[in-house]
Amino acid sequence: MIKMAIYGKGGIGKSTTASNLSLAFAKMGLKVMQIGCDPKADSTSYLHGNHSVDTVLDLIRKKGKSVPLEELVTEGAGGVLCVEAGGPTPGMGCAGRGIIAALETLEEKDAFEIYEPDIVLYDVLGDVVCGGFAMPIREGYAEKVFLLTSGENMAIHAAANIAMAVENFEDRGYASLGGIILNSRNVPREREKVQELAEDIHSEIVGILPFSEEVQKAEEQRKTVMEAFPDGEMAARYQELARQVLTACKKEEV
Ligand code: ATP
Ligand code: MG
Repeated sequence: MIKMAIYGKGGIGKSTTASNLSLAFAKMGLKVMQIGCDPKADSTSYLHGNHSVDTVLDLIRKKGKSVPLEELVTEGAGGVLCVEAGGPTPGMGCAGRGIIAALETLEEKDAFEIYEPDIVLYDVLGDVVCGGFAMPIREGYAEKVFLLTSGENMAIHAAANIAMAVENFEDRGYASLGGIILNSRNVPREREKVQELAEDIHSEIVGILPFSEEVQKAEEQRKTVMEAFPDGEMAARYQELARQVLTACKKEEV
């Protein structure tokens, strides 16, 4: 089982990239579980034809801890197993604590042993790298962390912060950096700036996604690109990224 997390600044394209990657992995014949660790709970919505799924926290609130696992894990497009951690009512309670509770519940219910996914993909907000948002890095949930960034300064700043958090916890033998994915926004010197980040954090760019109109058009249809334009240029780019990410996961650290 390969356990990876995609981290990045708010709005940088994590959920879009995660959902398309999940479908790209599924096309390679792999069984994927995508876990949205965002209180907004919209990570997997395009995999469900734009329907929001009940979150782990909502279900626990409604049905108690004995809620059956099959209600927490739902099957989306391409057979991708989808989980949304969920969060507290906005303005009430700590979002990070919610993610911790949700991930612990999955583990208590042996979700990974029962479903046996080949790939577990966490989609995590990177503006805050404390509490539950650090959980996939800190507690051994993810083994490889991929930083999604554009060349925009704030996105690079968030990626650098996450890299630091990974480094701080690495000694415990938990997650390590898998690499950087550049999600282009066509800003000046974009490639160079992200390459500088890679050097600063002793990592590398493992894949580059163009800024694509197909992504926007698919979004209007409330779908992933992989479903809306399966034969298009961007679907091929996500498929290529899936291969690059897998290679980075398998690469032994030196
Ligand atoms: P949040 O932090 O709010 O969860 P996010 O990082 O998950 O945000 P998304 O919701 O995936 O970001 O994407 C934000 C916007 O960027 C969406 O409108 C999406 O369609 C667009 N987007 C993402 N990647 C690309 C791309 N490669 N080309 C064009 N548009 C993109
Ligand atoms: Mg998101």
